[in-house]
Amino acid sequence: MAERNKKTNRTKLGLKVLGFIFTAGGLTCTVIGSASFFSALGSGELPTLFWLLIAGLPMLTIGASLLTFGFRKELSATAIQIARAGENSPTVAAQTVREGENSPIEPAPLPEQTPKKATLRCPECGAEYDAELNFCEQCGSELTKPCPHCGKPVGAHAAFCGHCGKKI
Ligand SMILES: [Zn+2]
Ligand SMILES: [Zn+2]
Repeated sequence: MAERNKKTNRTKLGLKVLGFIFTAGGLTCTVIGSASFFSALGSGELPTLFWLLIAGLPMLTIGASLLTFGFRKELSATAIQIARAGENSPTVAAQTVREGENSPIEPAPLPEQTPKKATLRCPECGAEYDAELNFCEQCGSELTKPCPHCGKPVGAHAAFCGHCGKKI
């Protein structure tokens, strides 16, 4: 198998070399032939090198064919690679999606929300006050008093204790 590949490669290398020679030779002949043809047209002389153009064109064609044949495998291999790459990318995309499913993107943390405290207002002056305060910072009136049943702070004018539920 390896032997055969080697042989194929050598044949292909020969094809490539021949292709290059033919292409280069054909190109040179075509250029020289064309130059000769056009200069002959200008000067009215016989285009002595015109045959180079006639010989060069088929050589160019042969060279191009040989090159195409020599590189065909590489070309098709490249095409396959490109096709495979094309096949692979959806898989990669699918994998990415699957990974995304496994580790769902955590929703952007909402701006830190300070726990909403019930706004407490002083019954005397209406100033807001912190629930832990016993006296209003604005007017000094009593805001909370200890519950006579459980001892926890309740509003100064509360009718019932919010902690134990007993009537004050
Ligand atoms: Zn007050
Ligand atoms: Zn109580």
